[in-house]
Amino acid sequence: MAKLCKAGQQLREQIDDAFPDRNRNAPEGWLGDARHAARVSDHNPCPDTGIVRAYDCNADLGSSKHEAHDLADQLRLLARSDKRISYIIFDGKIASWRKNYKWRAYTGSNPHRGHIHISFTKLGDHDRSMFRIPLLTGEPINGKPKKRSRILGKKLSSSSTSDLLSGGVGLENNPNQQHCCRCTCNNPLAKS
Ligand SMILES: [Zn+2]
Repeated sequence: MAKLCKAGQQLREQIDDAFPDRNRNAPEGWLGDARHAARVSDHNPCPDTGIVRAYDCNADLGSSKHEAHDLADQLRLLARSDKRISYIIFDGKIASWRKNYKWRAYTGSNPHRGHIHISFTKLGDHDRSMFRIPLLTGEPINGKPKKRSRILGKKLSSSSTSDLLSGGVGLENNPNQQHCCRCTCNNPLAKS
């Protein structure tokens, strides 16, 4: 039985809570149709576990058009630290680990203007932790509380922090992008 990964369920619930008037009609969804099944897609259930690692959020969040862009953008920035998020596609752009989640042009056939596509890594299969971004929890993105660092007597300007900001290092291989068995998802550009 196919099921959306736990991280996807969590994100969907948080978006529901934050935008109670949002549009949940198509293209909202997560399970791939016949068209998806014919090709590699995160919307196809993993053959072994039945877990689907992608969620399409309708971009009509019920109020301002900007909110979908803000949501996609905040999720993109969160992905640098929340390794459950694999990549995001919205409005002709994709953000993935490859460029440290900088937006770049998406060249797939479907430009994703009506929905935000969010793919998850294996780490999200069973992890229902909160997605901590301003729009959903009111919390800062990648919020390493400065105060705490000071208390601990550490400088915040560690290399890892600055690398994140400058779009950095260690991105040749995403260790979390290990999809099971036949799901070969190394090339986000190949999918819509
Ligand atoms: Zn999708």
